[in-house]
Amino acid sequence: MKNKTVKSHYDIIIVGSGPAGLGAAFKLAENSECSILLLEKKKISSGGLRNDCKQNYTFPVGFPLEHWSQESAEKLLKEVKTHLYPKIEQKYNIEKYSKRAQKIGVQILSIDQSHVGTDKSSQLISSLIDKLKALHVEVALQHEVHEVAADKKEIILTNGSKISFKNLILAPGRADYDWLQEQLDTLHVEYNDNIVDIGIRVETKEEHYPIVKDYYDPKILFPNKVRTFCTNSGCAHIVREKYKGYYSVNGHSLSKENKPNGLVNFALLKTIRLTEPVVSGQQFGRILGQMVMQLSGGSVIMQRVGDFRLGSRSKKETFNSDLYDFEPTLKSAVAADLSLSMPAKILRDIWKSLKMLDTIIPGVLHPSTILYYPEIKTYSNKPKFINENFMVKDSYYIIGDAAGTSRGITAAWASGIRAANGILASL
Ligand SMILES: Cc1cc2nc3c(=O)[nH]c(=O)nc-3n(C[C@H](O)[C@H](O)[C@H](O)COP(=O)(O)OP(=O)(O)OC[C@H]3O[C@@H](n4cnc5c(N)ncnc54)[C@H](O)[C@@H]3O)c2cc1C
Repeated sequence: MKNKTVKSHYDIIIVGSGPAGLGAAFKLAENSECSILLLEKKKISSGGLRNDCKQNYTFPVGFPLEHWSQESAEKLLKEVKTHLYPKIEQKYNIEKYSKRAQKIGVQILSIDQSHVGTDKSSQLISSLIDKLKALHVEVALQHEVHEVAADKKEIILTNGSKISFKNLILAPGRADYDWLQEQLDTLHVEYNDNIVDIGIRVETKEEHYPIVKDYYDPKILFPNKVRTFCTNSGCAHIVREKYKGYYSVNGHSLSKENKPNGLVNFALLKTIRLTEPVVSGQQFGRILGQMVMQLSGGSVIMQRVGDFRLGSRSKKETFNSDLYDFEPTLKSAVAADLSLSMPAKILRDIWKSLKMLDTIIPGVLHPSTILYYPEIKTYSNKPKFINENFMVKDSYYIIGDAAGTSRGITAAWASGIRAANGILASL
């Protein structure tokens, strides 16, 4: 695939094969005769689909409200389903949890979800890519776009080759926000990036968080913009992911065919909206991540709830005590002190939310529960769009998490459809 010869011109080039790029590619291929090139810098395709792959099919999960109405999201979610064939998970006892939550000012959203699993998502991706190829889309993996030459309507790959286009869709995902910022500068498109989500990942025994038996990935909204995110159970583990200059934790679980390990993990995130003079959410996240790197000797940190409550740092020995009866799944996390690394405002709101969660689902604050930090989600560059199809300049579209048009798989796919609709209307 690496040596695939790409042509020197296409009607449409899509950069990034995550769900946003795929959504655009399918819509365009199924509705036009245009020549389409889908470029992906990695060896394996499809960005964030490659992970746990929980798909949410209920508005507003994943859909930033400044870009989506319920009507526009629901219309496109129907289309997303025709490509991803979700098997919606059953939910039980939601009323019971919701009643308890409402009493203390917390909201539980009832969401239609499907779960593929980290071990199964690659099969889904391969079948999607095969279908795209059958639909005359050229897919070039290990082809990284170095820059966009706006004056010539060309992209330049890192191997030096140049490819011209009539329409360009950029869908590079949130990990490559700084690359996208450079392209936006070149294109003279205004943007801002003032939002970031900062939080922790909680790991505990399933018996301490039994709601997951009733609701696979419970979406719980707390006061002060704190929410649960990406719950994993069954065969669940925590990973650390490398970003530029720091690590962020994240959670995974394997499909139901794997033996359960009795553990659950989920993130508790607080959305921070920065105002002048601090305007870069990505930069703020990076600074906090780098502080943890300094304090942990180059990794992420973890603390047992029992130690946190007593105001004492966790130590290696803490994890061997008889009270603390499960091993952390992220072995590279360093036992430390959360309150030394997290800004007070964030820590206060997260701890308060955890106490509320423990009131709704008693047990989650068992002394053995582990709090990992940091989990950082830098979302977007929020470009200034000139129409509802996420066009930023004539023939240029920017979609997906990198552009703040989505915050999840299904919304990213839907944003790809919207950009494709713009191009189809212009043909
Ligand atoms: C570990 C993890 C787990 C997640 N789990 C879930 C989940 O279970 N459910 C959910 O809804 N969301 C989940 N998300 C979020 C979800 O993955 C994203 O919302 C979604 O993937 C965004 O889609 P996207 O197409 O915008 O970007 P991405 O999926 O990030 O795809 C962007 C692609 O563009 C490529 N690219 C970037 N720059 C270039 C370049 N210059 N040249 C060529 N290619 C380039 C990247 O390699 C990447 O493959 C998870 C995210 C992570 C990191």
